[in-house]
Amino acid sequence: MTPEIRSKYQAVIGLEVHAQMLTKTKAYSSDINEFGATPNTNVSVVTLGHPGTLPKMNKKTVEYAIKLGLACGSDIAEQQNFDRKNYFYPDLPKGYQITQDKTPICQNGSVFIKDADGNDKEIKITRIHMEEDAGKSIHDVDVYDTLVDLNRAGVPLLEIVSEPDIRSSEEAYNYVTEVRKLVRYLDICDGNMEESSLRCDANVSVMLKDAKEFGTKVEVKNMNSIRNVQKAIEFEITRQIEAIENGEPLTQETRSFDALKGITISMRTKEAAMDYRYFPEPDLLPIRIKQEQIEAVRKKMPPLPRELYLKYTNELKLSEYDAFNLTDTKDIALYYEEVIKHTKNYKAAANWVMGDVKSYLNQNGLEIESFPIKPATIADLIAIIESGKVSSTVASQKIFPELLKNSSSTPLELAESMNLIQESDEDSILTYIEDVIRQHPDEVGRYKDGEKQLVGFFMGQLMKASKGKADPKAANQLMRQTLDKL
Ligand code: ADP
Ligand code: MG
Repeated sequence: MTPEIRSKYQAVIGLEVHAQMLTKTKAYSSDINEFGATPNTNVSVVTLGHPGTLPKMNKKTVEYAIKLGLACGSDIAEQQNFDRKNYFYPDLPKGYQITQDKTPICQNGSVFIKDADGNDKEIKITRIHMEEDAGKSIHDVDVYDTLVDLNRAGVPLLEIVSEPDIRSSEEAYNYVTEVRKLVRYLDICDGNMEESSLRCDANVSVMLKDAKEFGTKVEVKNMNSIRNVQKAIEFEITRQIEAIENGEPLTQETRSFDALKGITISMRTKEAAMDYRYFPEPDLLPIRIKQEQIEAVRKKMPPLPRELYLKYTNELKLSEYDAFNLTDTKDIALYYEEVIKHTKNYKAAANWVMGDVKSYLNQNGLEIESFPIKPATIADLIAIIESGKVSSTVASQKIFPELLKNSSSTPLELAESMNLIQESDEDSILTYIEDVIRQHPDEVGRYKDGEKQLVGFFMGQLMKASKGKADPKAANQLMRQTLDKL
């Protein structure tokens, strides 16, 4: 497709994200909710849908839904019902899914992302509702048969439905990234797309740029990474534009993404869509959420990535890049928050956390919980650099590695015992300068004749003479002053 044709069209995207809740037990039974257990071991008669068994609401899922709703600025409905969504499938033993059809727990709200130009963009959230997962059909283990694992049946899910506000595959990528960050900050879902604890269905349509109405939407499923969500949407946009350009009508359908081929394949069309015959779930009472309950959840909210991002860019004057990286995971952000309780040098603190600290964690496959250096010690390290006692190179290359082994000493103690304190008092530096000048009369002559870049040579000599302990900033300034006076 030529860029000219591509640029005639606008893509329109709305995403439906399913997040598996990190509860101990399932949504409507006391079966354990765990990933990777031996198949069909967490399956009581409730999960198996035996006649006469009754679901019982897991209160934790309500709390988690409120948490997410508050984080998105949603309205939390005071009263809601549960509904049955009826269909037959081997991994759904009850023959229906318990969900919320007309009365989602959260309505309205938004998630902020960056658009293609790096500007803030609000993606509205239509609704968030509670429902249960189905079991898992496994098609690729047995050559002849499909296997069913019902451990996942009844695992609590939150479905997060966006408005069709997303305009490119890149925005979709940013949106899912933000949603995943949010559920991880809230500790309600591990966000692991490979294990499908976070899943995303993409609704994609295209229209001519000046069109008044959206085009026919296609729903794409089965993307097991955020990158694949982006790829599937990109493929779908191109496929739809080409169909329109070739005069082929688009049909409302559900397609599956084939990650190996990078294409989408039709699964079912609208005509073949099921009628789910939603009706109120008679075995669960409607739930009523009191204002006190919402306030109790609000009090326990962790800091949110966007709040921290705005604080870092607006108040601490960090770059958007730094703020984005620091807030990528909650643990790192909270570590940084601790560091800046002890220093006002926010930029240096950011550099340490994203540089030395993060590389150490990455190289050793560690989480910040097991990082030996306390945040206050990082602030001490920054302080001895600021006061000119050690250079940042020495702090990073000599003291930081030592602190990792010996986290009970202060950076200053280590600098002293390792004989690393740099000389920044004028008198001792001047002594070095005078020596260097005396030993290199030729270079001094050339400097006076205008070869000002020789200052680098003199500095090299000085650092050698001081065994690297002269404060380079102070020394450089004094060196120039002295030479220029000659
Ligand atoms: P359905 O009735 O098919 O479930 P909804 O109106 O409930 O459709 O929307 C489902 C999802 O599809 C939402 O995320 C919504 O933003 C998105 N969506 C709706 N219309 C379009 C469209 N024309 N193009 C892209 N996405 C759309
Ligand atoms: Mg719908």
